[in-house]
Amino acid sequence: MGLVDELTVIITGAGAGIGRATALCFASEGAQVVVSDIDSNGAAETVNMIEKAGGTATLVTADVSKPADVAALIDMAVATYGKIDCAVNNAGIEGKIIPFADQTDDNFDAIISVNLKGTFLCMKAEIAAMLKSGGGTIVNLSSVAGLIGFSGLAPYVASKHGVAGLTKNAALEYGKSGIRVNAVCPGGIDTRMLDSLADQATGGTQSSAQMMDPLHPIGRIGKPQEVADLIVWLCSPRASFVTGAIIPVDGGYVAQ
Ligand code: NAD
Repeated sequence: MGLVDELTVIITGAGAGIGRATALCFASEGAQVVVSDIDSNGAAETVNMIEKAGGTATLVTADVSKPADVAALIDMAVATYGKIDCAVNNAGIEGKIIPFADQTDDNFDAIISVNLKGTFLCMKAEIAAMLKSGGGTIVNLSSVAGLIGFSGLAPYVASKHGVAGLTKNAALEYGKSGIRVNAVCPGGIDTRMLDSLADQATGGTQSSAQMMDPLHPIGRIGKPQEVADLIVWLCSPRASFVTGAIIPVDGGYVAQ
């Protein structure tokens, strides 16, 4: 028996990094996975990996910042599998590291439109579908940057604090309708995004591990699988009394 046997899950940004690891983890625990990403090639690769391992997956290319793409994603998932049991709103971008007073409207708008508005659009559509089918679970990707500030990352920090706010509001509005909504807050996780941030911060002189291992009390950055395990548990019946929670998975980062 898998943790999420026979459940259907939509995962955005599932073509790489944490989203891909989460897709593989859901599939290995028995779920049918709708693998969505703006990057069709990355998403196709994730679908291949799931199918090679004997799992079930469907690819839907979608940009979460576009309402029409989000509507088509949800429609396709419902048409293929009948309903959506779980949704993981993971698609996100880091943008550029820029001091607050020098921030550009372009950097702010790009980050907010994917990380915050994209999560909002997906949640709205997912909740509407889950209300029709009698319930479900949603996990949003916030960040340690949704709990504390990081110099040079004001728009990203604002977007991730906003995701925590959306999570709490949806949890209290839909708890009695059988929909649980939680957010996870990863610390530094070994993905392309962390490499980009380390590159920008050090001018390419240090890898993400060199720069960020010592910043985590546990002594290292995390692996995508370590976030995926928490997300799958939150979507499983084992987490039946957990909703509205904003949960660090950060090697102790915010305990400092
Ligand atoms: P990543 O860059 O490796 O993967 C992100 C994926 O999202 C990519 O496949 C990309 O194509 C997709 N994507 C980007 N914009 C999109 C859009 N508009 N619509 C659909 N898909 C889009 O990043 P990651 O590290 O795996 O990050 C996943 C999530 O976890 C993000 O929300 C990120 O903010 C969050 N997070 C990451 C870390 C970390 O250290 N890596 C820490 C905290 C939070």
